[in-house]
Amino acid sequence: MSMVSNDDTSGFQAKYTIKEVLGRGASSVVKRCVEKATGKEFAVKIVDLTGDSMTDTDDVTELYNGTINEISVLRLLAGHPNIIELHDVFESSAYIFLVFELCKNGELFDYLNRVVTVSEKKTRMLMRQLLQVVEFMHSRNVVHRDLKPENILLDDDLNIKVTDFGFAAIVPEGQQNSFTDLCGTPGFLAPEVLKQSMYQGQPPYGRAVDLWASGVICYTLLAGYPPFWHRRQMMMLRMIMEGQYSFAAPEWEDISAPPKALIKALLTVDPAKRITATEALALEFFQIGTQVEEACN
Ligand code: ADP
Ligand code: MG
Repeated sequence: MSMVSNDDTSGFQAKYTIKEVLGRGASSVVKRCVEKATGKEFAVKIVDLTGDSMTDTDDVTELYNGTINEISVLRLLAGHPNIIELHDVFESSAYIFLVFELCKNGELFDYLNRVVTVSEKKTRMLMRQLLQVVEFMHSRNVVHRDLKPENILLDDDLNIKVTDFGFAAIVPEGQQNSFTDLCGTPGFLAPEVLKQSMYQGQPPYGRAVDLWASGVICYTLLAGYPPFWHRRQMMMLRMIMEGQYSFAAPEWEDISAPPKALIKALLTVDPAKRITATEALALEFFQIGTQVEEACN
């Protein structure tokens, strides 16, 4: 992306020096940057509103509104140790700069690609943190709607930081399910989201979609491959809607029953019967090694 140096962007550039690219999203680029006054490093998400890549002005408006939504949700959730911290925001007519705390260890996705599979012990640690974040978000009526290993970052101590609240939405007070739009990432989409967009007269969906995505993540951590996959996407979506997955050998042979019970409870097709984050955290899998395990490490 070419950085135009006009008055608009000078606010950000006066305070920060831009460094290398850390990652990319659909309509943003994330770069490392250094705060000039302190020498402290951050990650800046630069959202391009110039429409270079977009032909439709509606898309620009949607991107703008989406980014404003992301900022307001981040502020609503600020202070939780496992949610990415928004440090600073700059807005111009061409760009929005979101300055975040830097996660040097990158995405859980890359970590997974390096290690292939994660031990039960490490999965317990990661999933406990993830479900605690989900429990916290849901208590504030926020549904993330795009949980996946690309949107979970790792800090220096391999603690998770949930990021990318671009699709996050707020459930109106006193309502359980209120969304009807199709958003998220195919392999992580809950059956009720797919049914909503494919069939007439389906009920709206809500918080439970984040628990489904957590189930997909937990399965992937332990197996090294996702629960629902088919080279034809339509077939994959059908498998999701039918809850068709298996604990196949050899990968699952040596994995104990408690994490399988967690996955089964999370990957429940009926959202009304799917467990909540609070219920998930009370399952047997999380009762092992709370203090003892951590004290030994
Ligand atoms: P998008 O909404 O466009 O998907 P994200 O917020 O998901 O953008 O950021 C895109 C990518 O940039 C992430 O998947 C990650 O690789 C990288 N990234 C984002 N924020 C940080 C951060 N705070 N520290 C390190 N890398 C980051
Ligand atoms: Mg993303």
